[in-house]
Amino acid sequence: MTTVDHTCARCGARASGPEGGLPPGWSVATSDRGVDRLCAACTRENVRSIEARLDEDWW
Ligand SMILES: [Zn+2]
Repeated sequence: MTTVDHTCARCGARASGPEGGLPPGWSVATSDRGVDRLCAACTRENVRSIEARLDEDWW
């Protein structure tokens, strides 16, 4: 399996992961610019902000 360096779109952290995939704990988020890769730490932050947004929509 080929591994490549991935760079977090938010904080710039780097980690190696499978080509075409993601390092453990990372996620992808679609934005206006296309697909962003987020590291594990930023993924947690992103999930929290999504949940906050859902709460606002709910009310
Ligand atoms: Zn990050």
